[in-house]
Amino acid sequence: MSDSRIRSLESGTGAEAGTVLLELENVGKHFEQRPDWVERLLQSLGMMAPQSVVRAVEDVSFQLHAGEFVGLVGESGCGKSTLARIIAGLLEASSGSIGLDGERLNDLSLAERRRRQLAVQMIFQDPFASLNPRLRVREIIGEAPRVHGLCRPGQVDGYVSGMLTRVGLGADVMDRFPHQFSGGQRQRIGIARALAMQPRVMVCDESVAALDVSIQAQVLNLFMELRHATGGAWLFISHDLGVVEHVCDRVLIMYLGRIVESGDTEFLYQDPRHPYTQALLDDLPRLDQRRREFRPLSGEIPSPLNPPSGCHFHPRCPLAGPRCSRERPQLKALGKQRLLACHLEDGGVE
Ligand code: SF4
Repeated sequence: MSDSRIRSLESGTGAEAGTVLLELENVGKHFEQRPDWVERLLQSLGMMAPQSVVRAVEDVSFQLHAGEFVGLVGESGCGKSTLARIIAGLLEASSGSIGLDGERLNDLSLAERRRRQLAVQMIFQDPFASLNPRLRVREIIGEAPRVHGLCRPGQVDGYVSGMLTRVGLGADVMDRFPHQFSGGQRQRIGIARALAMQPRVMVCDESVAALDVSIQAQVLNLFMELRHATGGAWLFISHDLGVVEHVCDRVLIMYLGRIVESGDTEFLYQDPRHPYTQALLDDLPRLDQRRREFRPLSGEIPSPLNPPSGCHFHPRCPLAGPRCSRERPQLKALGKQRLLACHLEDGGVE
């Protein structure tokens, strides 16, 4: 299916009125693995293939619309965090293009691209590691907006105070250091730091995973409030399908660097069509329905250094057929609400 067809389908899945804020087209990220001296020796003796490439992200296309809260789900090592860093401008994509607020970033100079990508802010998983322990809250939140002209030097305190209020902290914490806060408060400071850059797109990379359950709920409620208040697009990366079901409008399922299924959260959770999504959801305890027969997801996610041929999921898929190891399934429309990459719904697996 053409990328434009994918785009038009996505715009029909939950955010018809929303402007496209972020657009990824066939984005890929490859890392070349540097050989150590033993590997170099083996390579020089012809006993090892010359170069290894890790394909962390392959051919990823999707859009985020204004006001949308979209989940990106997959097991550890599937490429979610690499993709998050590409979107936030912390990593350079190896292929494909990224559009931000109607502008194709690939067409811009590096300096201009960096400036534009300030409109994408990231909230990290670890609130302990993501704040500089030597800086006071005033500098953590206020320094970047001051440097980039979002507030005047004489107005930093007022600006920081406004951000702290938005995340439920008082202006009186401005002179404190990160170690003087709890984990939940530190995550709020991280959120205030991101908000201070007036982002159009927020990327939350496992942002509640390190918090206690009760604090998780508070931070998720804060995300919901801010999502409506800012009108931006939010990409919520998580391995926790239960949390995603409650907060996201739409879900993208990722397996070994590729998007394998996407759709409105409600439809996708009620009727998952990709065997990988089915396996993930089978493992999710549900209060509102009787648990489906449990089908454990056997094996571990394969190494992206040596991914399986055809459909990357075929060694673990209970429904795989001969075609699955031969041919890569393309991400195609399945009705109005779904994109799916599986031969089962596209001509069969034989
Ligand atoms: Fe399973 Fe084949 Fe579908 Fe891949 S293409 S998910 S291996 S049935």
